[in-house]
Amino acid sequence: MTRQRAIGCRRARLHVPEPVGRCRSVKIMGERVVVVGADATGMSAASQARRMKDASALEIVVFERGGFASFSACGIPYWVGGRVREREALIARTPEQHRARGIDLRMQTEVTAIDLDDSRVRVRPPDAGAETWVAYDHLVIATGARPIRPPLPGMDAAGVHGVQTLDDGRELLETLEWVTGRRAVVVGAGYIGVEMAEALVRRGFDVTVVDRGAEPMSTLDPDMGAVVRKAMCGMGIEIVGNTEVSAIRTGPDGRVAAVVTDTMEYPADVVVLGIGVRPETRLAEAAGLPLGEHAGLCTDLAMRVRGYENIWAGGDCVEVLDLVSGRLRHMPLGTHANKHGQVIGTGIGGGYASFPGVVGTAVSKVCDLEVGRTGVREKDARAAGLQYVTVTIESTSRSSYYPGATPITVKMLAERHSGRLLGVQIVGREGAGKRIDVAAVALTAGMTVEQMTALDLGYAPPFSPVWDPVLVAARKAVTAVRLRG
Ligand SMILES: Cc1cc2nc3c(=O)[nH]c(=O)nc-3n(C[C@H](O)[C@H](O)[C@H](O)COP(=O)(O)OP(=O)(O)OC[C@H]3O[C@@H](n4cnc5c(N)ncnc54)[C@H](O)[C@@H]3O)c2cc1C
Repeated sequence: MTRQRAIGCRRARLHVPEPVGRCRSVKIMGERVVVVGADATGMSAASQARRMKDASALEIVVFERGGFASFSACGIPYWVGGRVREREALIARTPEQHRARGIDLRMQTEVTAIDLDDSRVRVRPPDAGAETWVAYDHLVIATGARPIRPPLPGMDAAGVHGVQTLDDGRELLETLEWVTGRRAVVVGAGYIGVEMAEALVRRGFDVTVVDRGAEPMSTLDPDMGAVVRKAMCGMGIEIVGNTEVSAIRTGPDGRVAAVVTDTMEYPADVVVLGIGVRPETRLAEAAGLPLGEHAGLCTDLAMRVRGYENIWAGGDCVEVLDLVSGRLRHMPLGTHANKHGQVIGTGIGGGYASFPGVVGTAVSKVCDLEVGRTGVREKDARAAGLQYVTVTIESTSRSSYYPGATPITVKMLAERHSGRLLGVQIVGREGAGKRIDVAAVALTAGMTVEQMTALDLGYAPPFSPVWDPVLVAARKAVTAVRLRG
């Protein structure tokens, strides 16, 4: 098997085009890594591999079909909202900077096929020239996720925008600049939808958010989603739940005029889609690589695609192990993507690192409202067969007498009998969101809610009450476990 692969590599290398950039002069003696996708996962993997091995030992070629590498999609809502002024601020490292570090990064170059038998990929160059085959010793699949676009009438109309890439952000900003009406509809009330709602409010739009779920932020339990809805309504954002979008109606000029739902129409001068994403695994699937239940690639702990020694995958195109429920899930987050890349680069560089899984931690904000979540929701716990108790408490961000103290709501789930922490959701104002990290650490450590009550957290009136809201919830959960456990 290894021998066959080596022969395949040599044969395929006859077709390799000249590397571009500064790497051109480097004489390659060692192995070649081919990376597909040049954002968080791909460039973290490439950079880490380069740190571990120099160009004489490892040639690193990265193919990116888009026009940007190493950019922060996470920053798009803040760029659109005007908090971040320059698009360039969202670019961590330019292609030239990567090339200067010995990574052969080829932009606007799409990988169109993977040939597993001969260990090579087919590449379409930017100028629509002839496709060529490039051999690899290691292949990194870092193709990310693609946004869900239901095939509804009017979905492609002018004025309907996604927010997946920097080009999407620029196009949306252009629309916002010249459009005269001030009505915006956001379809989807997940974290990207609510962050975009804030961005549009900051740009002076009247914002309606339409979602098929009863409450916004379906990553929370509905009772906590209701807290978010109430706060968003208080900010003047209209939330329309339990509503399916059936079409986008266009005006005589072909531009978006309204979002049509089962029950009524919502006039719109601009529409932003935040309906969610799917793993971008079409390339991998076509090559015959096995996909999991959520259409993502499944890897081992070192981020190798299961059953393939020299194929690695990470970021939004893989499924990750949920350490709380024990199930695989698709959780497309930049924080995981960067860690996956680091693990992959270390492995390719000859070292050892692993990604054990996630506890499902995420934070987001809409205007001055902060939302944090970690672990399982009630419905996840039920689906995993976990028996649990829940508590919800109201507290404050600072000592109640200290200026600026604001309300915080904390919901906690603990396992019946054992009292093991299962999940936490937090909604509040300044200082609420990142409190979730305490719960994430407790979950990772497998702590019980009783053990949590003894955590030695920092206290001073400007930062928290003497019992931090997370600990207040843990104390109440201890009682609930005793009573109902
Ligand atoms: C608006 C928005 C806000 C977000 N906010 C947060 C946040 O606050 N916190 C958080 O943790 N995460 C956030 N995320 C998610 C985060 O951006 C992603 O999880 C992260 O970018 C995933 O990185 P990746 O490298 O796996 O995939 P991607 O960033 O999607 O990169 C994949 C790359 O592969 C390229 N590619 C795909 N197929 C091919 C091919 N065949 N050939 C060549 N190139 C190919 C694509 O063009 C793309 O550049 C946000 C995402 C968005 C859209």
